[in-house]
Amino acid sequence: MVRAAEPLLKISPAGLYCEPGGFHIDPWEPVERAIITHAHGDHACPGSANYLTARAGERLLRARAGDEAPIEAIEYGESLAAGGVSVSLHPAGHILGSAQVRIERAGQVWVVSGDYKLAPDPTCTPFAPVRCDTFVTESTFGLPIYRWPPEPDVAAGIGAWWRANREAGKASVLFAYALGKAQRVLAAVDASIGPIYSHGAVENVNAAYRAAGVTLPATIPVAGLPNSTDWSRALILAPPSCLGTPWMRRFGNVSTAFASGWMRIRGARRRRSLDRGFVLSDHADWPELNRAIAATGAARVWVTHGYRAPLVQWLAEKGYDAQAVETRFEDAGEEA
Ligand SMILES: [Zn+2]
Ligand SMILES: [Zn+2]
Repeated sequence: MVRAAEPLLKISPAGLYCEPGGFHIDPWEPVERAIITHAHGDHACPGSANYLTARAGERLLRARAGDEAPIEAIEYGESLAAGGVSVSLHPAGHILGSAQVRIERAGQVWVVSGDYKLAPDPTCTPFAPVRCDTFVTESTFGLPIYRWPPEPDVAAGIGAWWRANREAGKASVLFAYALGKAQRVLAAVDASIGPIYSHGAVENVNAAYRAAGVTLPATIPVAGLPNSTDWSRALILAPPSCLGTPWMRRFGNVSTAFASGWMRIRGARRRRSLDRGFVLSDHADWPELNRAIAATGAARVWVTHGYRAPLVQWLAEKGYDAQAVETRFEDAGEEA
């Protein structure tokens, strides 16, 4: 007989595990049953026997887990019985299809945030706070220095940089994580400035977003175009892994920029020899983390991903029962 107050989640060798429900959440290795908050690589590991994810993210998870992967998709808010618990998924506002996982058993509610942000983003369903007793929150940017500027200001900055490069006859190469960030940039930027080209990795995700009904401006795949193409008026979206590679040579005279929360840190841009840095993140900044945590009404908070210790200490001082939770992947480098 399990008492109601017994924790609904524990840390297993494969990650967060719900024993009464018989499932893992974002496991680090293949498991029998995986609930996936979203399709970023550090959350969606291939090889599990069964997957559950939000409908809007199904295509993206399939791209990660493979065509044959058994994926069950449910709508946000739809409730499912799993073993002795009831499970539902709720919008996290991070990327298309990103979900928080709500687990309930005998009146006790736990919510696992996955990655999330509160800032508006037309490419995905906005974050919805979910009341719970225990909130498992990410803390990728869990330091008070992380405060994001308003997105319209960032979009205007990108537009001004692109226009200036166009006048100077330089191509504008903007590095952005292929899944989520690149599409958010596309949705925000003034597409009337010039043609927009994209790297294959970005273009694949653009296609998945459009197929899911997200409106994005037209993009032209770079692949297959002759090197003699005139890139001087163009915005070119590429994943950060292209920085400094031979792939860049075809564009000739370029200005480079990176759209990421990490651009908030002085030196992050210079270290990568970029001309510009635009502070645009798909994660909550410090005020958003605090707002999100307060909105859950949770008394207990588990902190995972990123700057855990400072957020745990801050929450403990405010009277929360807060603790850090181990994660396998500490590098948020792929998506931030
Ligand atoms: Zn993510
Ligand atoms: Zn993540």
